[in-house]
Amino acid sequence: MFVKVRFAPSPTGFLHAGNARTAVITWLFCRQQNGHFLLRIDDTDRERSRDECEIAIEEGLTWLGLNWDQKENQKFRLERYNTVIEKLKADGRIYACYETPEELGLKRKTQLNRGVPPTYDRAGLSLTDEQKAKYEEQGRKPHWRFKMDEEAIEWDDLIRGPVKFNPSDLSDPVVLREDGTPLYHLCSVIDDVDFEITHVVRGEDHVSNTATHVQMFKAIHGQFPHFAHLSLIADAEGGKLSKRMGSLSIRDIQNKEGLEPMSVVSLMARLGSSDPIEAFTSVEPLIESFDFSKFSRSTPKFDSEELLRLNAKILHATEFSAVQERLSEMGLQEMDEAFWNAIRPNLEKLENAKEWWDMVHGNVTPIIDAEDKDFTAQASTLLPPAPWDENTFKTWIDQVKEESGRKGKTLFMPIRKALTGMEHGPELPNLMPLLGEEKTKARLNA
Ligand code: GLU
Repeated sequence: MFVKVRFAPSPTGFLHAGNARTAVITWLFCRQQNGHFLLRIDDTDRERSRDECEIAIEEGLTWLGLNWDQKENQKFRLERYNTVIEKLKADGRIYACYETPEELGLKRKTQLNRGVPPTYDRAGLSLTDEQKAKYEEQGRKPHWRFKMDEEAIEWDDLIRGPVKFNPSDLSDPVVLREDGTPLYHLCSVIDDVDFEITHVVRGEDHVSNTATHVQMFKAIHGQFPHFAHLSLIADAEGGKLSKRMGSLSIRDIQNKEGLEPMSVVSLMARLGSSDPIEAFTSVEPLIESFDFSKFSRSTPKFDSEELLRLNAKILHATEFSAVQERLSEMGLQEMDEAFWNAIRPNLEKLENAKEWWDMVHGNVTPIIDAEDKDFTAQASTLLPPAPWDENTFKTWIDQVKEESGRKGKTLFMPIRKALTGMEHGPELPNLMPLLGEEKTKARLNA
């Protein structure tokens, strides 16, 4: 089967952790199957849709490395939707209803009070032409519902396994607003049919929508695609994703948090699956290992600390060539590969590179405790002649050790504090050649 998938964000908000996860998983599956990825912008809600969000969604996907083979906007397909809608009206599968939102609310309340499920009572179906004409005279405009039939609804979900719905438990969904604009449900199904989508991947919040969609697919096309409903993610405390990183947009994770895209991809690709979450610097192993059957139905926890851990690990494994341009943009044009390799094990975020650059090239205040003053001065006299490389430190420290009689922490720490002004930092053997003779001497004698 030639696989065709779609990712269908509504441009009413930015791309955030939850829908980025859907995008990542849909994309991994698609690329593994050598399929076709459609980016579908669900913008039939003209009031709430914003160009700015559409742009941010595209930028977010691009930043994550998720490309698409085709893009469609629902707002450009209204004519096509109308054609299908007219046909469904003629077939009696879509019918007019005249209740106001208040009336519907009241019906709902009465049903709930009586302890019956609040499904729509289909009053619209039994309206006579005279009654309809009367409503129209009063200035009421109908909204339209899709009439569910009695046939049991079943599908084999790629994540949830066999799913069954009894249509009588479901309200006939509204598919056309009073102002004549079509709603998400039918548009989504028409698109999935027209673009020959073979696999619909989305959040489990859509499961009951899918039940109604199955009947719409059948009414329009006779058959329906495969479905995979991902469990929703919760934050580390198990609550709804509302706080901290979980509610941040991908744009914020990129710009405000300064994280690497592969840390997000690495986490989202494996979260909620039986494969371990690991730091990947490329997507290939994730594409290769992807399998819907590895995903569980339980709610996985999104832990922003985990994202930070992955981010650090990814940086530690990142080649200089992969970050050179971004380092330049940060004003670190002069940083070379040797410098990068020396500092990368000490990075949590790329922005830390600036701190290490300043530690080497800026004005550092060496820390030399009173009892170490003679020691660091003595060490300075033992420095080997230039040029220095990564072996210089060992040659030097062996001699310092012998002459001073110090060892362990009392040997290394005063030197580190004098050279860097800090107690932690990059390995001294890597750092020394970066500092060079002049700075090393000056700092040891500060
Ligand atoms: N626009 C819908 C959403 O964001 C799409 C759901 C779907 O994938 O069909 O939830």
